[in-house]
Amino acid sequence: MTTREQRIADFIAPFRVEPGSKVNLAKDFEPDFKGTIQSKKRGRKLLVQGTELLSEYQSRLYAQHTHGVLVVLQALDAAGKDGTIRHVMTGVNPQGVSVNSFKVPSSEELDHDYLWRYGQRLPARGEIGIFNRSHYEEVLVVRVHPELLDRQKLPRGTRKGLWKRRYHEINAWERTLSDNGFKIVKLFLNLSQEEQRIRFLRRIDLRDHNWKFSAADIREREYWDAYQRAFSQMLSRTSTEWAPWYVIPADRKWYARIAAAAVLANTLIELDPRYPKVSKEAREALQEIKVTLEKQAPEGAAPDPFVAE
Ligand code: ATP
Ligand code: MG
Repeated sequence: MTTREQRIADFIAPFRVEPGSKVNLAKDFEPDFKGTIQSKKRGRKLLVQGTELLSEYQSRLYAQHTHGVLVVLQALDAAGKDGTIRHVMTGVNPQGVSVNSFKVPSSEELDHDYLWRYGQRLPARGEIGIFNRSHYEEVLVVRVHPELLDRQKLPRGTRKGLWKRRYHEINAWERTLSDNGFKIVKLFLNLSQEEQRIRFLRRIDLRDHNWKFSAADIREREYWDAYQRAFSQMLSRTSTEWAPWYVIPADRKWYARIAAAAVLANTLIELDPRYPKVSKEAREALQEIKVTLEKQAPEGAAPDPFVAE
């Protein structure tokens, strides 16, 4: 490992939820944590370095075409999901990235099992796919509002032990993806209740931000404690060796962005994708083609700048 890689691994270590550990979100993670990066200015520099690294690794991932990476982003409203996606993915070739946002399921989606719609939008090999909200809504919003299950057309007698079963099914689904070359990184943007209040107020006060505000967000805020419990349990039950959760301190947007970029960079470093090796025969064939192409140069064409005088 180079020192740069080691620095990234050390930086993200406090955010990782150890598989098998029991998480109490309020006690175990601080939304305003900023560790050793004390200033926004220093943070900006690191983010630029991080995104450059991501861009370099993404081109290799794309060229190798063996692995895909799925980034799962979960958070309460106003935690900064959209901004995180925008900043972390700057500089990455859009051809190799997909972003999918999941809202209330449609009637077609409800006609299938609950994992169906997420399976439809997975990244292909070579791609980085981002889920803005994800299959985890099925153990978050649905858990906080169990009446949503009534729309899911579940067979009789399947409600008992449903949450435990869903954690298990999600872990198994992710295991299948992981065993087949798809790496999953899960980011939970951890926002404090007070910071959410401040951000909602800003959305009301600033005209250009009014469109971001919805009355539904205020209704969900009433369920704060129930969400914290659902998040804690989700983190405890679904952080696995093959698809670990990272709790990203989200009270400072600039910090959350660096942390998210670092987790993704670390994942790519671990995958270590390589450009495909070109065989000796293929290289020789390329040389022959080159000779043919050079012979096709029109009369009086400019000399090839790559050929030494
Ligand atoms: P933004 O507000 O920034 O546009 P958002 O992700 O909050 O982004 P909204 O349209 O405001 O998007 O909200 C989507 C809603 O859909 C959320 O309240 C979420 O909980 C809900 N949702 C997502 N998945 C499910 C699901 N499987 N079942 C029920 N509700 C869901
Ligand atoms: Mg919203």
